[in-house]
Amino acid sequence: MKDVIIIGSGVAGTVAARKLAEESQKKVLVLERRPHIGGNCFDKKDEHGIWIHVYGPHIFHTNDEEVFSYFSRFTDWYEFPHKVVAQVGEQQIPIPFNLNTLHMVYEKTKAEEMEKKLIETYGEGSRVPIMKLRENPDPQIQEIAEYVYQNVFLRYTMKQWGQTPEQISPEVTGRVPVLISHDNRYFQDAHQGVPKEGFTRMMEKMLQHENIEVRTGVDGREVLTFAEDGTILFEGKPFAGEVIYTGAVDELLDWKYGQLPYRSLDFRFEYHKIDDYQGHAVVNYTVSEDFTRITEFKHLTGQKDVIGTTIVKEYPFAYEGKEGQIPYYAIMNEKNNALYETYVEDMKKYSNLHLLGRLAEYKYYNIDLMARKAMDLAAKIGGER
Ligand code: FAD
Ligand code: UDP
Repeated sequence: MKDVIIIGSGVAGTVAARKLAEESQKKVLVLERRPHIGGNCFDKKDEHGIWIHVYGPHIFHTNDEEVFSYFSRFTDWYEFPHKVVAQVGEQQIPIPFNLNTLHMVYEKTKAEEMEKKLIETYGEGSRVPIMKLRENPDPQIQEIAEYVYQNVFLRYTMKQWGQTPEQISPEVTGRVPVLISHDNRYFQDAHQGVPKEGFTRMMEKMLQHENIEVRTGVDGREVLTFAEDGTILFEGKPFAGEVIYTGAVDELLDWKYGQLPYRSLDFRFEYHKIDDYQGHAVVNYTVSEDFTRITEFKHLTGQKDVIGTTIVKEYPFAYEGKEGQIPYYAIMNEKNNALYETYVEDMKKYSNLHLLGRLAEYKYYNIDLMARKAMDLAAKIGGER
């Protein structure tokens, strides 16, 4: 008999499973409907032997020492400072926009003057969201903000979200602030990189424990029934243990209040028989093209022992719930959050159900915060014995 059933084997499900199995001696069953574990972190070698991230490029980055050392039990790291450039006309400029970018865009004297003003206004090392920068009435800061808005955010955000930066939640564009420093790295976290043998291998190791059983190719909704009276049935019998659900909440309740909006992505992979396609792990296309970015995997896995290179272009679109479409990003705003809350309210009748994960919580979590949340939930459930 199982103590805990976890639906989904992404970061949320995997970390929670290991913690519960190892630290609380719970018997855990993980159900995953895809043919593989790992959720959106899943990576593998393509037909050319090149390591690719099947559901989009993933770079682990964190300042959370506990999460870092926990993951490090299951993997060594290929650590590298992740850098991104944006293709703006003929120029490739560092992203986030920082003081180095400023000097590439404006001539020397003007750039120096602007740099001084930015440091005086915001302080060296600060991170200023573009929507905040735009509020500054100073004409020179207005000029910088307008440049960044037009050349970094507007078109890319329109592609990614189908809306302008004003229309989406400010925390989204706030993820990539203007940096008042000469740091060209995309993230400023102490640890950044990818697991040396891939995310999948790291997560497989996490799931290898005598108290964990994993069943792939099994949809949790087919073996669990969420009855109107608040009981959860597993294979037709009432299940008194805990259930952790990491999928989409609207789907779990058969979309009874309507579909929650998400953005999806179409990943188009290309193999090129050249050694180096773009010289960078990621190039963002912020003013041209229909795709948002091109990732060249060799630059983020450090792989050297292969001929050619594989890249992926990301084409965003509105998720409609059609067969094969994947809901990648919650579109957080007042209306959608309210709909999400309606589902959560309804689910409160299941006292042994826990919603965990980027989909289940309708949030924009990175891997590290997801792991942190999973650890916290596992500690809470584990202590409830
Ligand atoms: P998921 O990885 O989505 O896992 C959920 C799992 O549940 C899936 O495997 C799904 O098949 C399964 N499932 C759902 N419903 C059912 C069901 N009914 N029955 C059985 N199984 C079910 N974070 C970073 O820190 N760095 C990055 O560089 C980064 N890049 C990203 C790039 C993209 C394109 C995207 C979309 C996300 C990125 N993230 C990144 C975020 C990262 O992917 C998430 O933080 C993390 O994957 C969340 O894990 P999760 O377990 O909540 O969700
Ligand atoms: N963004 C942008 N231009 C860029 C990079 C980011 O407009 O060059 C905006 C865009 O709205 C994007 C958000 O900032 O969705 C967050 O970017 P991030 O790189 O964190 O997105 P993710 O990697 O999670 O897709």
